[in-house]
Amino acid sequence: MKNNILFKTNVLVSVILVIGFTLIAVLGYRANYNAYLVKTEQVASLANEGIYYQLSTLLTKPVNISQTMAHDSLLAELLAEEGRRGQEPAYQERLRHYLETYKEKYKYDSVFLVSSASTNYYNFNGLDRRLPQGDPENDWYYNFVNSAEEYSLNVDNDEVVGADNKITLFVNCKIKNTAGQIIGVVGVGVNIDSLKDLLRQYEEKYKVDACLIDEHGLIQVSSMYNGHTEADWFKINDSERVRQSVLEWKNGKSNWDIWMPGNLQSSEKSYLVVRYIPDLSWYLLVKQDTGAMVAELNEKLWQTAGLIAVVILIIILIITSVIKKFNTKMTRLLEERQALFKEATEKIYDNIYELNITKNCAASKKTELYFEAMGAKDCPYEEFLRAVASKQLKQEFREGYVRTFTRENVLHQLAMGNNYLQYEFMITENGSDYFWMRIDAYIFYSPADASVHMFTYRKNIDEEKRKELENLRKAATDSMTGAYTREATEQNINWLLAANPNGSYCFFIIDIDNFKQANDLYGHIFGDSCIKQFVQLLKSDCREQDVVGRIGGDEFVVFSSISDAESAERKAERLCRKLNTVCEDSGNCWQMAGSIGIALAPQDGTNFKELYAKADKALYVTKKRGKNGYTLYQEDMCGNKRQI
Ligand code: GH3
Ligand code: MG
Repeated sequence: MKNNILFKTNVLVSVILVIGFTLIAVLGYRANYNAYLVKTEQVASLANEGIYYQLSTLLTKPVNISQTMAHDSLLAELLAEEGRRGQEPAYQERLRHYLETYKEKYKYDSVFLVSSASTNYYNFNGLDRRLPQGDPENDWYYNFVNSAEEYSLNVDNDEVVGADNKITLFVNCKIKNTAGQIIGVVGVGVNIDSLKDLLRQYEEKYKVDACLIDEHGLIQVSSMYNGHTEADWFKINDSERVRQSVLEWKNGKSNWDIWMPGNLQSSEKSYLVVRYIPDLSWYLLVKQDTGAMVAELNEKLWQTAGLIAVVILIIILIITSVIKKFNTKMTRLLEERQALFKEATEKIYDNIYELNITKNCAASKKTELYFEAMGAKDCPYEEFLRAVASKQLKQEFREGYVRTFTRENVLHQLAMGNNYLQYEFMITENGSDYFWMRIDAYIFYSPADASVHMFTYRKNIDEEKRKELENLRKAATDSMTGAYTREATEQNINWLLAANPNGSYCFFIIDIDNFKQANDLYGHIFGDSCIKQFVQLLKSDCREQDVVGRIGGDEFVVFSSISDAESAERKAERLCRKLNTVCEDSGNCWQMAGSIGIALAPQDGTNFKELYAKADKALYVTKKRGKNGYTLYQEDMCGNKRQI
């Protein structure tokens, strides 16, 4: 029972804690998730801006240098001389030296010059090749020359011997003569690896994916890819759905961004920031996935769950410990109280037994032992009850004892709302000496076994009962004579008549003849002595079960069972003879005699009053007749009194 309460308490506390902590964790998770999304947007945008700024810086310098060279009058003069001196080694050396000087000074991968007149291609090594029209490899040059732009950027393989076809960003700048005609193109080549490094730096710093794609969606520069291998960014990133939107964004002055959903199996998504670079006709894409963030949040969530589990465990341990300590303390207190109560109860009662009334059996070990001691081991309770009654109880108490404690009566009393029974009786333990005992019984319903139980508290009340009976006897007895008082006489006679309605009894009223004379002659003390002797004489003719009572000053009643009227008359005659004697006391003598009136039960009456009235009439007749005799009541006694 206690463990069940403890378990329920722990479950309740755990449920409350789990709900509380879960709510906090979920709300915290959602708040963090939203904050992370905002952060993701900010980081991706900032990374995009940063890369774009760095890229612009990276491109501005080669453009400026190319333009410086394009406006250099020395270079224009050299080109003007090419027609005449183009084949001279000194001329070619001057051009080579010019280009090499720029290359070395600004650390470019390539510095080149194309003469519009000869289509010769010079670089820091000198004359490299010619760029005849019609070769697709040379389209860059002719497209640029035919365009209106002063300079252009294009990415291409560096076909220069020793350059290993490295993907290179070329800046091309037109050289014009004073008449405004194009006389050549000059420029520098920047190895694309520096762009790669730039992107990698940002990727590592901001945990983003950054790359440059062309207008077809092919990756031109990224930390993993370069222009050598054809790689479509949208296919690689499974983002076909945004291809059109991205490639239509031609605004080089601001970003375009979008949240791209991930696959169905995961909650990940990606934030994409797009910037168009008009000079290169490329797009700078910066993408940040929420995967790392979700993983981090999930890790935090699991850490929180672990923490919650530990906290709940600690709380449960504390609750269990506190409740157990409390229970132990309460149990000890309860046991102490029960021991005290038991001790006190045992001082009051001799034996306490417990019975299961519903199941008709003993309900405690002590009770079972008592059953066994009475030779009723494993017997049903009612059988045991009758065994005790017949073996130990005095005859007159057996029926009342069994009737009081029978299962039928116990259950009936409980149903009537009475859960207390008491019975006093005389019992013997050795078969001969009887003593008074009282049983107090407490009846209750026990939900534990769905049965009616009864505790019986047995107490030896012999001493108090005997005192009580003695007091009763005293109250019912005339102190001078030892005969019953008038009230006790009436009660006893009525009780005997009611208990045995078919019995035959004689009812005598006996009055001392001329008693005033005794008092007058010798005083009241002598008179008292005569009264005592008179009663002794009455008692000497009576049996123990007869009632002898004093109902007036010198008037007495004798009530005795008889077989017939004749025996009543014989008893009266005998009494008259006995009472007709000399009373002696302190040297005084007085001739004593008594007059008797007789009524018979049941024919003359069935209660004291009826019998008294009729016996009194008969007594009156005796007195009238001359006293010292008896008269049996007759129906016609009112006027004609029979005389003996
Ligand atoms: P009768 O033959 O008609 O009965 O005449 P009696 O003298 O006996 O007169 P009665 O019965 O009418 O009176 C009874 C007397 O008994 C009256 C009273 O003084 C006396 N008496 C009553 N009680 C006591 C008592 O306790 N002690 C003494 N000594 N006398 C008592
Ligand atoms: Mg008298």
